[in-house]
Amino acid sequence: LRHLVLVLGDQLDHSSSAFDGFDPQHDALWMAEVSQESTHVPSSKLRSALFLSAMRHFASACRARGWRVHYTPLEAGVATLADALAAAVARLRPQRLILTAPGEWRVLQALRTTARALGVPLELREDRHFFSTVRDFAAHARGRKQLRMEHFYRALRQRHRVLIDGDQPCGGRWNFDTENRAAFGPAGPPPVPARVHFSPDATTREVLTLVDQRFPGHVGDLATFDWPVTREQALLTLKRFIDERLPYFGHWQDAMWRGEPWLWHSQLSAALNLKLLNPREVVAAAEAAYRAGTAPLASVEGFIRQVLGWREYVRGIYWTQMPEYLDRNALDAHLPLPAFYWTGETEMACLREVIGQTLRLGYAHHIQRLMVTGLLALLLGVAPKAVHTWYLSVYVDAVEWVELPNVLGMSQFADGLTADGRPAPGGPMASKPYAATGQYIARMSNYCSACRYRPHQRTGDTACPFTTLYWDFLMRHAKRFASHPRMALQVKNLARLSAEERAAIRARADEIRRAVT
Ligand code: SF4
Repeated sequence: LRHLVLVLGDQLDHSSSAFDGFDPQHDALWMAEVSQESTHVPSSKLRSALFLSAMRHFASACRARGWRVHYTPLEAGVATLADALAAAVARLRPQRLILTAPGEWRVLQALRTTARALGVPLELREDRHFFSTVRDFAAHARGRKQLRMEHFYRALRQRHRVLIDGDQPCGGRWNFDTENRAAFGPAGPPPVPARVHFSPDATTREVLTLVDQRFPGHVGDLATFDWPVTREQALLTLKRFIDERLPYFGHWQDAMWRGEPWLWHSQLSAALNLKLLNPREVVAAAEAAYRAGTAPLASVEGFIRQVLGWREYVRGIYWTQMPEYLDRNALDAHLPLPAFYWTGETEMACLREVIGQTLRLGYAHHIQRLMVTGLLALLLGVAPKAVHTWYLSVYVDAVEWVELPNVLGMSQFADGLTADGRPAPGGPMASKPYAATGQYIARMSNYCSACRYRPHQRTGDTACPFTTLYWDFLMRHAKRFASHPRMALQVKNLARLSAEERAAIRARADEIRRAVT
């Protein structure tokens, strides 16, 4: 065998760089399902099933092209990618291994070490899936004291001529965030478009049974599984989003409503992260909707900012700062994650709803993740790594390169100092911690009307834990944020509290911490 092309579960793209020069006569593919990928964090059954089903469909499509695929199924009982690769190399004796850069630092190290130990050359190729390369990001970051997504995003918009007229951004502005923060109001959302539903085929049904047997204690309701597992299904999901949801996406992208997990969100992140979709086609389809007048600019820009902006930016952060990034803990937070994150059993209605939906469906939208589950962990002072483990486990779209900076950096504000306490290169990725009281949740959702707590109360039996913990957070970190350009005003508000009130907040916050951790 000449080349053994390694294809990982998040590299399901026929045009991947790993296939450049692929010769079906002399080369073959290698894919492996191993238990460690579902257990190194306790992966939701939905997440495992999505990866395995999409991998099996991709392998079938490759075989249909006449390509040889050496595939280790989970039933073979192999524990690690390294073990599976070692067995394949011993059997097939390839001259060279070819791999497109993987999405996880841990996996890259494991495969590199294995190849070295086996004495077979490993050729690592650029991941062309992304608009930018890690080198582009590193060049952008070099010499900058502070990294900001906005600068990187604008440069990418210009370079790739996305939403650009002449040499100006469409509509004369780069950012339409201020138009994209509406709440639903008391009447709630208008009828939400029906979701594209993919009934599990025989391959998916087989995977669902397998995952249920292998990982019985893991969270996730497989009866709800209907994620796209092929490129065709992913393209249909994209089309339905552009036609039905994109026109309203931006307007309500921050809003939340009981019993409405999907709203106008794209639900494309899983297909994008598995590489069933290319971000270029997603961005082009969104821009085309604006140009055709079927979606407003604010909505289209808000969506493109997620794909072309945040997604590329966090990838750059991850690959330029790993592995040290994983151990950052700038706010010195050490509490364990409350057990209810794994059950949804809590009296806090917002968390009950968001965690319940997450465990059941493997999905929550950005604001539910940032301003409900992430916010509580930040305010409590949960160890960032424990928060990271939870997010990587429970969401179908979670791949470490995108999940870790979003959780550890943006949501937990933990990345401003390196693991050994020095200022981090480029500073923290978020310009301030996303700290807020329960009143933010009350404004953006109807969760509070089903809750025993009151979002405006900071002390007493019915005080909203978010509100109590917000003031406690400001007190605990007052020194750190007193002269922070975007936090100083919030810290100043502490002066409005009497000594008694401060003491009562502290006592109540301690009570909450004892009760939940
Ligand atoms: Fe959540 Fe507080 Fe509202 Fe209850 S009152 S739903 S805990 S924000």
